[in-house]
Amino acid sequence: MAHSNRRKFVKNLGAIIAAGAAADLSLGASPYKPTPQLTPQLTPGLVPYPAPGVFRPGKTFVGIQMSPHTMLDEGIDRCLDLCQSIAGVNAVFPYSHAFHTGTLGKPLRDLAKDHGAMPRDLRNKVPGVWVKHNDKYFSETSLRIKSSDPSLEFAGRDLFSEIRKPADRRGMKVFARILESSGLHIENFNKVLTVDTYGNPGRSACWSNPDYANFWNATVTDMFNSYELDGFQWGAERMGPLMNIILPWNNNAPGCFCQHCIERGKASNIDPGRAREGYRLLFEYVQRLMTDAPKPPEGVFTIFLRHIMRYPEILSWEYLYRQSREDIQKGMYTAIKSIKPDAVVGWHVDHQPSSWDIVYRAEMSYEEMAPYSDYIKLILYHEVLGPRIRSWYLDRFKKTILSEISIEQSLELYYALFGYDRNAEPGVDKLSSEGFSPDYVYRETRRSVASANGKTKIFAGIGIDVPGSPPDDPETVYQATLKALQANAGGIVISREYEEMRVPNLEAIGRAVKAWDTMSGL
Ligand SMILES: [Zn+2]
Repeated sequence: MAHSNRRKFVKNLGAIIAAGAAADLSLGASPYKPTPQLTPQLTPGLVPYPAPGVFRPGKTFVGIQMSPHTMLDEGIDRCLDLCQSIAGVNAVFPYSHAFHTGTLGKPLRDLAKDHGAMPRDLRNKVPGVWVKHNDKYFSETSLRIKSSDPSLEFAGRDLFSEIRKPADRRGMKVFARILESSGLHIENFNKVLTVDTYGNPGRSACWSNPDYANFWNATVTDMFNSYELDGFQWGAERMGPLMNIILPWNNNAPGCFCQHCIERGKASNIDPGRAREGYRLLFEYVQRLMTDAPKPPEGVFTIFLRHIMRYPEILSWEYLYRQSREDIQKGMYTAIKSIKPDAVVGWHVDHQPSSWDIVYRAEMSYEEMAPYSDYIKLILYHEVLGPRIRSWYLDRFKKTILSEISIEQSLELYYALFGYDRNAEPGVDKLSSEGFSPDYVYRETRRSVASANGKTKIFAGIGIDVPGSPPDDPETVYQATLKALQANAGGIVISREYEEMRVPNLEAIGRAVKAWDTMSGL
């Protein structure tokens, strides 16, 4: 049913584009009808949006992720009004630091064109860091956040100061959001790099390096002393060394074996030399599997298992890696709470760990993360999961340790191991063109809530209009949102980025939240 709706939707969309973007609000059977109303401070040329108050959400937490420049480009008031009146948003999550990317700007093809303001291609034209830092907080680390190039658009603005009053007027919370990874915006980053199994520097920073840990503590200490923030979300989209060998996102040699990790290993009675040798041999084994070299006659998976058996330090080192990551989060949590005890602090779990990284899943429960987590936000993008499972999971495993089973068997195994309904989700032939169902959102939320065991909240990261995704159908978006709430999510965070999200899908989320609030008497 969802897919016939999608076809209908695509057909409707074509008609709307032909008729002009102003018709977008009429899409979808909304039980409430926002009343368009002219606001006097509107920038000339912008289409007005309903004034705040049209849709006052209940108690359900509804966050929305966005790139900061979009809010400034569309206008803070206008953007908040749209989010609140259409989707019931009561918390905004702009990036304070976008360490993960060279630019927050996006090509026009990925940007929504029905927000009333025509989007602009701002690639390489806007900053990646959106707060002003004070050196005094960074005395315990050699790392520094570089100042933004003043010639970039919006470089002179201070979003997290400017947004406070407009957010307060609407009863909305402001969460700063960070994605880490590269050292693009960080001075002295080469001092904290990981070391791979061959002794070469990696491209990421080491979680066990105290200089890097102190950098994060300094960053959040500065932010929560300098800005009035209600909450914080931090994420790092990198996988552990074991998973990156068997399901290679890249062919980088595994790590980390820096002096800090070696000390950490020794303190945990794990032989660093054995771990390093085991990782090197396993890495070389799997890399060879991806060439035309003859496969081991005793069996591809069997020899993988032999490596793990001969070098159990591989698993111990992987767990150590995960613990070091969690320690970074613990440090930030403690630093923020010491400044603002009621700040809401939580973590972004990206799509791989939430939905197809069984190593991450096995390492610890969400309950174990709860002592330093007010919430854990899982990426649950139902539409784009189809193509991602095809190309990022099945095709990669087929080249490595699961080459002995067919793609069809591998998909069956995936559905079974992850607890998703094979009858509700696409078969191999449909994966690239169809998304997963709302039932996936329900099942993954329910599993995660069980894993948290009441000790921390699970926020469902509902994804709409994610680039690379089959087209979103508002009815499916509505169902996915409702299913997440029915599975006892502590709230939702609309993802990936506001600037990609089209109004009919935002409206579908708003309808679902409203329906849930009514159903649950909020
Ligand atoms: Zn290290």
